Amino acid sequence: MKGVKFVDYKFKNNETELYINESVVCKVNAYRQMNREDCESGGLLIGRTDIHGKTRVYEITEPMKKDLRNRFAFKRLDKRHLEEVKIANDRCLYFKGNWHTHPQSIPAPSWLDVLSWKKAIKESKPGESKHIFFIIIGTERIKAWCGNMMSGQIEELEYQKEEEL
Ligand SMILES: [Zn+2]
Repeated sequence: MKGVKFVDYKFKNNETELYINESVVCKVNAYRQMNREDCESGGLLIGRTDIHGKTRVYEITEPMKKDLRNRFAFKRLDKRHLEEVKIANDRCLYFKGNWHTHPQSIPAPSWLDVLSWKKAIKESKPGESKHIFFIIIGTERIKAWCGNMMSGQIEELEYQKEEEL
């Protein structure tokens, strides 16, 4: 597939690091909006933060029947997204944020995305981690942002190339 390699993805800023498992990269790539009629997709990120503050995403939830989907919007309405996170908790995997697709080559968040991310930061329990992550899958690039639960600030993360891993 053009422009996308199936390897672990790593993003970082000076506060935190985010790894996305190859299997997850593979999964979200299947939802890229390559055709005019493709709807937006989305779901939750499920993973774990280690003692050094590095977060790894091992699993995601995928679009479900009761979600609202069209070309320019995805609304996660199906209760099963949260149920899947609950089940993952038994394997010590936790809610780490959310992902969705955009019909853009290099995705940028809409003002509605920023609003919903701010809401997600507010509603998440700080618990074991200080950050919550947001991923947008464009047709050519995957981009990631992190929300700081203490300050409420959202910052873009920098993609680290494979050879820098
Ligand atoms: Zn969006």
